[in-house]
Parts: sequence; structure tokens; C-alpha cells
Amino acid sequence: MLSVSKLLSDSPLKEKQTESARYCRAQSPVIVWNITKSCALHCVHCYNNSEEKIYPGELSTEECLRVIHHLSEFKVPAIIFSGGDPLQRPDIFTLMACAKDKGIRPILSTSGISIAKETARRIKKSGVAYVGISLDGGETINDRLRGMKGAFQKALDALKFCRDIGLVTGVRFTMSKKTIAELPAIFELIEKENIPRGYFAHLVYSGRGERFSREDLTKEETRKAIDYIFDRSEEFIKKGLKKDIVTGSNDADGVYLYLRLKKCNPAKAQLVFGLLLGRGGNSSGVSLGNIDNLGSVHADQFWQQYSFGNVKDKPFGKIWSDTSNTLMKALKHRKGLINGRCSKCKYFDICGGSYRVRAEFSTGDKWAEDPACYLTDEELEL
Ligand code: SF4
Repeated sequence: MLSVSKLLSDSPLKEKQTESARYCRAQSPVIVWNITKSCALHCVHCYNNSEEKIYPGELSTEECLRVIHHLSEFKVPAIIFSGGDPLQRPDIFTLMACAKDKGIRPILSTSGISIAKETARRIKKSGVAYVGISLDGGETINDRLRGMKGAFQKALDALKFCRDIGLVTGVRFTMSKKTIAELPAIFELIEKENIPRGYFAHLVYSGRGERFSREDLTKEETRKAIDYIFDRSEEFIKKGLKKDIVTGSNDADGVYLYLRLKKCNPAKAQLVFGLLLGRGGNSSGVSLGNIDNLGSVHADQFWQQYSFGNVKDKPFGKIWSDTSNTLMKALKHRKGLINGRCSKCKYFDICGGSYRVRAEFSTGDKWAEDPACYLTDEELEL
């Protein structure tokens, strides 16, 4: 995750460091918890193959509360309750409130389609720090890609209900050939509806996304999209609009941002380089972890092929710290293991070779270079 607006802004160093420290490598991981697989939508890019049904073997309320207790003992800073749609679980408010009580920031990632005014109030009451609502663009595209007529309007209403009662809200948008023309519309919506946050994710090929991989942007298209996101973020800053614009699922974005700053503001570029270095690039298996709907632990929410253990059998901290598992150990010391361009890249320490799951999907080798790196050999001085 790259905090584009925070890094581009002229905010004091301390503010930048606070943001960077929140997710730095020294800390326990932020957990994306796919708390249920159930979801009413049929999104073509869903990495979780979710459907609207009950999935046998999902954790009971008691089991979830025990997991939250263990996560708090392991000093996990934040849980992103994701799905499926977490709001399909009637006990989700209890679970989020429990996390908050135990000093963990609960974050909710949802389609938003089931958030009425009363639901928004219950979300706030359970102490949620941030609600991210997914959109694929304007009404026509969104409803087509999400497989439900009226989904856009419901999600927009949800954003407004949450915003109006003082919840920090954001739009989550996945970039692909089918959605990219909608990028300006998402920025318009963020500005017009006074939404404080925008999260722009690259496509990761896994789950139902495998069938969608042909829809990934070309390198040229990706550069154009990221330039657009950086430009619009700077525009918000110039207008004095406090927006938190973030990109995700491609750690090469950090390198691209650094190189952009280097051309126009070398001092700021140096500062940003230091902050990115502290974060250390891709954090799957290090400061980012995933628990799936059945309790299995993974390096990140996309990379479901490998499980390190199950939280029904063992506390999360024990699973995460067990470096007798070869992959867990390798992810924590990945430098020198990743091949191709990444092995020679002078920016490896701020990128970390980006996403292993994408490398594995494209080549069969999890230590290959990430095929979604869009920087040129010249830029990387290869
Ligand atoms: S070559 Fe590899 S390490 Fe370098 S920026 Fe691209 S993905 Fe990151």
C-alpha cells in the first residue's frame, strides 16, 4: 500500500514518519481477514470466488473472538474485515467491537450494498476506524461488473450514510481494462461527495481474477493510470482538499513515485526514499497477513495456494513466527531469492520484488520477477 497523497504533500517529516511507521516491517502484521466467503454480488474480478450462500466450516463467533484475543496478544495493529462481504455475518459488529476493545484498529471492507442508515450507526458504534466501499466506476459499468442492477446506488448511499455520521470512508477501485476508463469518474465522486479516501488497486491474478487476467492493463496503460492518480492527488493538495489517496497491489508504485519526485524535488525524493526503505517494499508474509474464511493463514489475501496453519488449531502468532516453514522463512528474507529483473534492480530494497502470487501465476515460479512491473530498464538502471 502506497500513501500517495501523504508522500506527495508538504506535510512535515514527522507526519510522514507516523504514517510510514504504522505499517513498518518491525511491527506485527496488519491482517486481512476474509471473515466469510458469502457475498450477494458476482464481481468478475473477485479473488475469493464468493457466492451468496452459507459456507460450511466458517469460524463460529466464539472461535472468532478467540482469534481476536490471540491477534491482540501478538500486537496486531489492525484487522481489515473483508470477505465475501463481512456484513453477511450477523455477528460482525460484535467481532469489530471486540477488536477495538482489545486495542486493534477494526477496518471494514464491504460492497456497501447492505448498509442502511441504521447499519452505518451500528458500524460506528462498534468502533470501526475506516469503511472501504468497492466500486468499479459509474452506475452502468459498476452494476454490470458487479452483477447486480442497483448496486452502484446502494454503495453510493452507503458512502453517504457513513460519511454523514462521521465515519472515515473511502472508495476502493480495482484497475483493469474494463474499469480504467472510469478512473476520472471515481476521482470526481471523491471530490463531489466529499469522500476522504480513495484506494486504487492493481489487478492480482488469482481466484476468479485468473479468468480476468487478460483484462490487466498493459505497462503503458498502467503508467498512464498511475500518472493520472499522482496528478489528481497533487491537484487535491493544491486545492487544499484533505484526501488520502492510496495505491495497492503493486510495490513498483513506490519506485515510480520516488523517480517522479527526483525530477522535480530531489530533497523530498530523498525523504520519501528513506520512508519507503523503512517499509521495505512488498510485505506479504511479513507485515501483511491473511486469514481465510475457514481459518487458514496465508501470506496475503491473494495467495491462497499456500497455508501456514489454521487459527482453529494454533494461535496466529505461533503460526506467523514459525520460520521452520520454508516459505515463511523465505518471505521474511527474500532478497537474493527473486530472479529476473528484480535480482538486478537497484530499487529492490524499497519494492521487495512486488507480488509473488502474480509471478507464480504468470510463470509457475514464485521467485520470478513480478510481470506487472511497469518501470523501464532505463529507469531501473538495469
Ligand atoms: S524490477 Fe522488481 S524490484 Fe525493481 S521495481 Fe520492478 S518489481 Fe520492483
